[in-house]
Parts: sequence; structure tokens; C-alpha cells
Amino acid sequence: MDLIFRQARLSDDGPLMDVAIENGRFAAIAPKVAASAAPGQEIDAAGRVLIPGLIESHLHLEKAFVKDRKPNRSGTLMEAIAVTAALKPTFTREDIEERSRRVLKLLVAHGSTHVRAHAEFDPSQGFTGFDTVLDLKREYRDVIDIQVVAFPQEGILKTPGTDKMMAQAMRKGADVVGGIPYNDRDAREHIDWVFKLAREFDKDLDFHQDFKDDADAMSIEILARRTIAEGYQGRVSVGHLTALGAVDVPRRDEIIALLRDAGISVMCLPATDLHLGGRKDAYNVRRTLTPVRALRDGGVNVCLATNNIRNAFTPYGNGDLLQIGMLALPACHLGGADDQATVLPMLTTHAAKALRLANYGLETGKDADCVLLDTRRVADAIIDLPNRDVVVKRGRIVARSTSKTEFAF
Ligand SMILES: [Zn+2]
Repeated sequence: MDLIFRQARLSDDGPLMDVAIENGRFAAIAPKVAASAAPGQEIDAAGRVLIPGLIESHLHLEKAFVKDRKPNRSGTLMEAIAVTAALKPTFTREDIEERSRRVLKLLVAHGSTHVRAHAEFDPSQGFTGFDTVLDLKREYRDVIDIQVVAFPQEGILKTPGTDKMMAQAMRKGADVVGGIPYNDRDAREHIDWVFKLAREFDKDLDFHQDFKDDADAMSIEILARRTIAEGYQGRVSVGHLTALGAVDVPRRDEIIALLRDAGISVMCLPATDLHLGGRKDAYNVRRTLTPVRALRDGGVNVCLATNNIRNAFTPYGNGDLLQIGMLALPACHLGGADDQATVLPMLTTHAAKALRLANYGLETGKDADCVLLDTRRVADAIIDLPNRDVVVKRGRIVARSTSKTEFAF
């Protein structure tokens, strides 16, 4: 075998397991695997928890780490967009590359083995950021899988020239067609347009969707009905969807049933949405998050993701998905006894489903992407915020770290 974890904790109610890896895949998972690996390639997990790789299902690489260049003083979405639009034309390729590499390193250090990156372009900034992300996808292919979304942040119909750029982005090699109906001339027209492009290239879709504190002007129902009409069930994701949190319960539940029937995955982005949302509330400030519990209970595939790191939209963050999970516990009322266990899958298997990863999971024959955590119970994987001791991408150790406290008492 190329690599073996001895006596790892995969579940809290089963025995400890040996996990053997060969040719980038999990080759054997059993209480005792007789095979051996080369010296240094057998890791004594000694009861520590092994989980499949974390999946960052919604992230912007090219605008990370710019919060000090032009601060967002009001903390509103409007100022975040304005500040970032002013900065974007100043980004050089070297600059984007350096900041994106910092993000990718943080992701890997914290156990992410996949990331879906929304890479944007528009006529004013051209393809500089987008092309850089595509190049990094190739360069990092053995370290972290990057799915690239062609993302028209400034709208398509209201920003002439972006339509041609969208098609060009797909030809350049984008994996997913992006959309942002709330930032365009007409949401329905926008949705029609991106569906046509997705059909032409036979690609999945991922929308920035209904990012608002209030429920007016939502287009999620249009999107869900269109998804079903196109036979695109299971191929569409939406990020934010905060407006759904402002809808009364009967209508909300109707929309949730529609989302379930359309097989639309929802990415909750709490680090951003809590920061930008509710800014007009002087008291009783709203949480302005998509209703994660109701979506989960309604059978919708729900994920948690980072969105932005240290910019005008989210002026903090370190690429640690377990911290995002921890943030969601109180913010989404997921801290209860039965709820906590439903959170880790939002960072792993649910995200894999949204990204349609066929070879994902801690099972024989699947890609050997996994993380050894410095904790003894799977149930504590989030609340311990454990050290990521070993991170493995397709059978190869890509990061190792230790955190040991020396007590003076
Ligand atoms: Zn985003």
C-alpha cells in the first residue's frame, strides 16, 4: 500500500479502522488490514477521527485579502460592491496569483480537498482574474481540485460585452455556468440567458441568489420552475438565498418543496451574510440567513461555505470550513443535541453532492481524499475545532501539522 492509517475513528458507534490507500484510492477499510506500507507511510491514528476531505463549495479566490486597500466602512452590501468594483481594475495578474495562492494554502492546511471557485470577469477588468484561476486549477490539480464557475458579478444584460465573455469563459474551460439574477436588468431574462448557455455547453449552474434581507423581488421560484422544465434537476446550486429567511412560513415551505423537487442545492454563507445583513435594523437585528433548518427538514441538499476571505464582503476568515460550521451552530440554531450531527455533512457529503463529485467519500474504491483530526469523537469534529494533523489528496499527504500545548502546571 502507498499509505495506511492505523486505528482511525470513522464513526462514533463502530470499531476503529485501518484505512489503506493505493494508487490514489481507498483500497481497504477494515478493523485490521494485513497489508503494509513503506516506512513513514503508516500513520498511527490511535483513535483520532478521520473524515473525508472538506469541500469548500462557494468561494471567491481572486478578491480575497484586499480589505485594507479600500475599507467598507458602512458594512453594507452596497458599499462592499462599490468598493470592490473600484478596486478590481487595479488587480494585476501577479497580485491575484499571490493572494489566490495564500487562500489555497489556507484551504489545504485546514483540510479542504475541493473548492468551487466563482471566478469573475467583466469588460472593465477583462479576464485577468478568471484566467489566473484557470491556471491555478491546472497547477494545483494534485493538491486541491478547483471547479471554476464563470461568474458575471456585474450582470450580463446590463453590462454590454459580458454575454460574449460568458461564452468565451466556457470555451476557455469553465466547469460551471454562474449567474446573479438580482444584479441584472431583469431576473427572468438573466435566468433564461444562463440556462441557454449551460445547455449549449452541457454544464451545471451555480447562482448567487436572492441576497437580500427582505422577501421582495425574489426569483428563486422562477429559477426552480425553469430547472424542472429544463430537466436540470440535481444540476443547479444557489448561494446566499437569504431572502428566503424573510418569507412567512406557509410560502417558505412551498418554496422549499419546489427546491426539493428541482434538486437545487443551497449554500448558506454565514460569514458574509451575518456581516452584511440586517444593517438597517437599529434594534432586534435580524440574522438574515437562509433558513437552514427548514431547508434541511424539507429535504433540500444544504451546504455551508466561506464565500469571501478578508475583503469588503467579509473582512475576516482563514479558509477554515470547520470554523464556518462552528459559526452556523448558534447562527442557524444548529447547536441542539440532534442538530449538531447534521452540520459536518454540510461541509462534506452534501457539498460533494452539490458539486457532483462521483468519487468522493471514505469508501473502498473512492478517491483517497481525507483529513486526520486531532479529536477522538466524530461528534466533536466541529466544536473542538481540532488541529488538522494530516491532509491527504488522492493518496498523497499534502499537509501535516501539529498543535501541542505544554502545560506549566
Ligand atoms: Zn459569492
